[in-house]
Amino acid sequence: MEKLAINGGTPVRKEKLFYGKQWIDEDDVKAVAEALTDDLITCGPRVAALEKKLCEVTGAKFAVAVSNGTAALHCACIAAGIGAGDEVITSPITFAASANCAVYVGATPVFADIDPETYNIDPDSIEAHITDKTKAVVAVAYTGQSVEYDRIQKICDKHGLILITDAAHAIGTKYKGQPVGSIGDMTCFSFHPVKTVTSGEGGAITTNDPELYRKLRLASQHGIVRNPDDLVHESDGAWYYEMQELGFNYRLTDIQSALLISQLAKLKKFSDRRKEIVNKYNEAFRDVPEIIVQKEIPESDTTRHLYVIQLDLDKLKCTRREFFDALSAENVQPQVHYVPVYYFPFYEKKGYKKGLCPEAEKLYNGMMSIPLYPLMTDSDVDDVITAVKKVVEGYKK
Ligand SMILES: *Cc1c(COP(=O)(O)O)cnc(C)c1O
Repeated sequence: MEKLAINGGTPVRKEKLFYGKQWIDEDDVKAVAEALTDDLITCGPRVAALEKKLCEVTGAKFAVAVSNGTAALHCACIAAGIGAGDEVITSPITFAASANCAVYVGATPVFADIDPETYNIDPDSIEAHITDKTKAVVAVAYTGQSVEYDRIQKICDKHGLILITDAAHAIGTKYKGQPVGSIGDMTCFSFHPVKTVTSGEGGAITTNDPELYRKLRLASQHGIVRNPDDLVHESDGAWYYEMQELGFNYRLTDIQSALLISQLAKLKKFSDRRKEIVNKYNEAFRDVPEIIVQKEIPESDTTRHLYVIQLDLDKLKCTRREFFDALSAENVQPQVHYVPVYYFPFYEKKGYKKGLCPEAEKLYNGMMSIPLYPLMTDSDVDDVITAVKKVVEGYKK
């Protein structure tokens, strides 16, 4: 057996691979440079062009570009009319923003458990957590896999709930052939550099509902209205605008929009390469019983953002932490997505307790994400597989 790097052996590779990385090429650089020397570097034509492009990509009628994915979730909660006293059901295996957005508007996040095989929110658990205060569901398309829209939509219809998708991981994913972004009431995207396409920082909300669209605009742009037809008071003149609601400055710049338009032109290329790598990993880990891989529902055509491996700790002599550190020493740097949101001190102080979502906690105890991004070469992918298998060999019972 080969000596693990953590015990003084030779690492599988010299340079560290991280779990995610953007892919910026010459076209992107050119697009940004052009935007920079235009008259309008924010609130200009590129934002509108980006929103049009996002509608094309997602099949949604409307898109509002915002400064980041967290702002997108905040705007969605505002547009949904969520407020004090309301409850919002989401998954604990997500980035904290999926729950924080409810807190931003004075509501209470309620954590439903995940499906132990798909790792997405379990529709039965959503239903079990509904009370007369429940106002919305924030369903997270975790790792990029679509949530079970048919079942979740049915539950939302039955109980009069608004369905918001946190699709920060899921641009490019389809559910039964329909792109994520045009399903449910509102869909939120993030364009942070680790996500599938990036604008540096950035986000967007898509919807098919004109009234939600109007509210999303207001929420993201100070609640200000300029269109003469939409004014409450009579116009004082050509300069006149009105602040009708309390909104925020969540605008995306034209510089960022230029980058994202250029990136979206490569979405298919990025998506295809991600799928290729996922297939290689699935194939490689099929005959490694110590490694459990995420189940994919047949309805989801997934552009995978994260590749999560779950350790079958009964078959290993190590803890997740030891496995993580050993893989890292091989220069394949894993990450854990995510610490269950309600473990965090902020939520603990609010009274959330460990034990709330047993499946989510079980997954958390054994999981880690391994590198997945389109710029990885075949040899990088092989190194990851070699390193994972080497560490498994080193620790298997
Ligand atoms: C990245 C992410 C967000 C937040 O997006 P930002 O653009 O970083 O604000 C929200 N939810 C999930 C699931 C994410 O991965």
